[in-house]
Amino acid sequence: MKKTPKELKIQARMQPGVITYGGFLGTDKRHYLDIIADDEKKLDTLGKSAEEIADRLEYFQQVSFDSFQSSTVLEDKWDVETEVVRGYIACPFAHQGMYRKSYTTVTNLQSKKSFTFTALHIHLIRAHHFFEGKGSHFRLEPEELVKELF
Ligand SMILES: [Zn+2]
Repeated sequence: MKKTPKELKIQARMQPGVITYGGFLGTDKRHYLDIIADDEKKLDTLGKSAEEIADRLEYFQQVSFDSFQSSTVLEDKWDVETEVVRGYIACPFAHQGMYRKSYTTVTNLQSKKSFTFTALHIHLIRAHHFFEGKGSHFRLEPEELVKELF
């Protein structure tokens, strides 16, 4: 399918070194629209919406921001920690506004699986249903999020 100029621009902004050092697509050769479509199909089978996942990540992030401790344990099940980094980052879909760069890491204490994300990742999931490309450092696998964080 032929891509619009806007879509080509977004795809270009997702390449390494444009907005972030590593880019948003990793080793994924698919167009970002196909990545989104495949993850949306996956979400259907998981029975969770992108919005529900974004809300959950935002909840963890907020708990961590509100805590004055270096790490917080929630419900004896999740350890949440935020590393505050200076600076802001833009959305590759060319939205107005900038997102805090602080990295929140949630670890499921039973499985020891960890997920790291910023405010931009929450926005990407909520507004664009975009979890990044396979092999991207910040790719969040919908199946793992649903399994480990709910
Ligand atoms: Zn956006």
